[in-house]
Amino acid sequence: MAINRRQTQAVSVGGVKVGGGAPVVVQSMTNTDTADVAATTEQVAALAAAGSELVRLTVNNEAAARAVPEIRDRLLGMGADVPLIGDFHFNGHRLLSDFPACAEALAKYRINPGNVGSGEKRDSQFASMIETACRYDKPVRIGVNWGSLDKGLVARLMDENSRAAEPLDAAHMTYRIMVVSALESAKRAEELGLGADRIIISCKMSGVQDLIAVYRELAQHCDYALHLGLTEAGMGSKGIVASSAALSVLLQEGIGDTIRISLTPEPGGARTQEVVVAQELLQSMGIRAFTPMVIACPGCGRTTSTYFQELAKEVQHHLREKMLEWKVHYPGVEDLSVAVMGCVVNGPGESKHADVGISLPGTGESPAAPVYVDGEKTVTLKGDDIAGQFIGLVDNYVKQRYG
Ligand code: SF4
Repeated sequence: MAINRRQTQAVSVGGVKVGGGAPVVVQSMTNTDTADVAATTEQVAALAAAGSELVRLTVNNEAAARAVPEIRDRLLGMGADVPLIGDFHFNGHRLLSDFPACAEALAKYRINPGNVGSGEKRDSQFASMIETACRYDKPVRIGVNWGSLDKGLVARLMDENSRAAEPLDAAHMTYRIMVVSALESAKRAEELGLGADRIIISCKMSGVQDLIAVYRELAQHCDYALHLGLTEAGMGSKGIVASSAALSVLLQEGIGDTIRISLTPEPGGARTQEVVVAQELLQSMGIRAFTPMVIACPGCGRTTSTYFQELAKEVQHHLREKMLEWKVHYPGVEDLSVAVMGCVVNGPGESKHADVGISLPGTGESPAAPVYVDGEKTVTLKGDDIAGQFIGLVDNYVKQRYG
């Protein structure tokens, strides 16, 4: 069933279209010191290779601002033409005006209205950043985060709420403050000359129900392109589940033009995991396809060896590795489905539904693995190299069908 996407302004971020009906864009953020050009370039390249279509990096000091153009140039030299987004807090106005090469090299600026300054300074510093965006024709994300709300705005709206006939409760006041912060900042940016087609909005919270509530309200009140993400989602399965729970509800309602999964990596873990999760979320919802899907049963008492798990893992790994080459030579291959099933109970049925499927022998079954291609049983694999033979069959199928 197709999802009815909300109509939003289309924004070009370094040539990547966000909003306006474009496919939901996957983005990510580095966690290297931006001033470390080599490490940051390497991580951006890895994120881009994993499928991140936009990559954000913090620009927190002069060394970072100085590094940005070099990072961009090194990436271009490696053939990684991924748009870079600068994440600014507190001193963005100064960095953007003092380092024009940085302002020019970035494809978008993220501005947090809660961290721009206070009072008159706030207005002038915000205006300075927007004027830089206008000068270099760059889009801006007005990125509100509930951990850093604009204190002046909070005081003003709380005061108004306390005098209201029917005051909002604390949770609804937080949503209201976030939405007002985003929309008032966006309106001010437009007054300063930035077009609505240069503005993306986000209102990130760390609670699933809070995030859903605030984005529903945001979507009702504007047609700016929206960036979705559950902030501080956490580590491992908790972060994946919480992000998926929140974002899938909103995406199903047609809300969201670009997403980021804010996972805390395990020590030594790959930063690229957040890109894989974002892609898998969109693909499992049928919104976009990135990599051939492996359908695997969970296994049970009928799969007493680890062979079945190893084959599923090997096939998944092989497909992801091959995509770098396949996406160039075999357009459409991302829609391929491959089933790896543990036994005869559901194996043949599920394999017939996939483009290519294998039903491994469960405990006590004869050591033979029938393979199904386009719903028909074509061959039965036996011996010590069922994995290698099956992967070879999948590779041949890809060449014949998508070549
Ligand atoms: S297909 Fe077979 S091995 Fe897999 S979960 Fe079902 S019964 Fe168990």
